[in-house]
Amino acid sequence: MTFFLFFFSLTARRCHPTGAVIAHFHTSSIVSAKQHYKMLVLGGGTGGIAMSARMKRVVGADNVAVVEPAEMHYYQPIWTLVGAGAKTLASSGRPTASIIPSGVKWVKSAVQEINPQTNTVRTEDGNEISYEYLIVALGLQLHYEKIKGLPEGFEHPKIGSNYSIKTVEKTWKALQDFKEGNAIFTFPNTPVKCAGAPQKIMYLTDAYLRKTGKRDKAKVIYNTSLPVLFGIKKYAETLWDIVKTRDLQVNLRHNLIEVRADKQEAVFENLDKPGETTVFEYEMLHVTPPMGPHFVVKGSPLADEAGWLDVNKDTLQHNKYPNVFGIGDCTNLPTAKTGAAVAAQSAILNRTINKVMKNEKPDKKYDGYTSCPLVTSYNTVVLAEFDYNGQPLETFPLNQAKERRLMYFMKADVMPHLYWHGLLRGFWGGPGPYRKLLHLGMK
Ligand SMILES: Cc1cc2nc3c(=O)[nH]c(=O)nc-3n(C[C@H](O)[C@H](O)[C@H](O)COP(=O)(O)OP(=O)(O)OC[C@H]3O[C@@H](n4cnc5c(N)ncnc54)[C@H](O)[C@@H]3O)c2cc1C
Repeated sequence: MTFFLFFFSLTARRCHPTGAVIAHFHTSSIVSAKQHYKMLVLGGGTGGIAMSARMKRVVGADNVAVVEPAEMHYYQPIWTLVGAGAKTLASSGRPTASIIPSGVKWVKSAVQEINPQTNTVRTEDGNEISYEYLIVALGLQLHYEKIKGLPEGFEHPKIGSNYSIKTVEKTWKALQDFKEGNAIFTFPNTPVKCAGAPQKIMYLTDAYLRKTGKRDKAKVIYNTSLPVLFGIKKYAETLWDIVKTRDLQVNLRHNLIEVRADKQEAVFENLDKPGETTVFEYEMLHVTPPMGPHFVVKGSPLADEAGWLDVNKDTLQHNKYPNVFGIGDCTNLPTAKTGAAVAAQSAILNRTINKVMKNEKPDKKYDGYTSCPLVTSYNTVVLAEFDYNGQPLETFPLNQAKERRLMYFMKADVMPHLYWHGLLRGFWGGPGPYRKLLHLGMK
């Protein structure tokens, strides 16, 4: 209840009575004389905008700049529903200009190089910007090109991918055009963002095919590189029950290596038997691409051995450069990469930076909180929430491993508002305080 009150008070404060969202004014970026900022944020995605809003309150808008090349900002989690025709792509995006906190400088360019020894970054257009404190929020990179036959294969029908703005609507098209045969869903052999998304679209496809009377003509197959269906046992048990009941075939340790889109064939390697490959014909293919660290982070002294931003898992401060901080998908935080994790991290990072600025020791620890609303049909969700240890950390005082309509409502209708009006404005730091309240202080 408190959660909903919080949510509605936020939306009420932030929306115009007509329902239109008021765009903020911000300083334009094209010509810039000032090339030094007290607080420089790299990336204007989920973590970058949330931290800009918070840092504006700490050091003042004039002292904060965000480097972000994209004209549009997208709420990526809703793409799962866009791919299944339950939401429109247009509803997922807003102009970047409207979400940069008012007064904060938007540097409309891409960062190319980070030099933490000189406290500078270089942008694509050749400018050098210096900083006192740096927050890196560059997200991760999608690597469709690591699968033979992609990305050009997306020019053919019957194939889509919810992970990219360019291909998410192709998923919905492939689903609508389905006649008979295999509907195949993949999970790559790399870390991914929102590890539930590759299978959510499978459950939605199954539901759609049942609704349209085509399910008996379809074989629904989930080919995953992982040795498990889902990493957290409590939720995996529910998911295994669902796949059995709905006759969904799961092939573990199957990694997509090639798409022959002209022939509607997908080639998988068996990760447990090197050299062994299997060709699957498909009537519909949903690809989750391999993913990896951002090339700018990877090529900088800020990276760990694998290329991810090397931060302290408790405080989010960089392990070598104390005036550098990280948030979100670009970091090496050992938790699942999600927007929900970014929300919890933003509150901790805010606290850490405040302490560091006062020459005090950071005192609050991030517990690894992350969440994955596993959409299991057009009106049900299993809301997985867990911490660094893979222990469930559930907000609601009910068993969240059950499929629930309430959680679908949360995913489809509440969370987008919480994102635009709470998280991006630096007011939503995850459900921690509400969890405590809803569990009468016991969690
Ligand atoms: C299909 C799908 C489903 C998902 N479902 C969920 C879900 O249900 N729940 C959930 O919590 N999360 C979900 N996520 C994950 C969530 O969207 C991400 O984890 C989150 O957005 C990460 O935030 P970030 O700030 O780290 O990265 P991003 O939000 O990706 O932001 C990175 C930003 O950096 C910018 N950038 C890139 N290169 C440069 C450069 N060189 N210079 C400057 N800027 C640059 C980009 O343009 C972007 O704006 C989903 C994601 C997808 C794709």
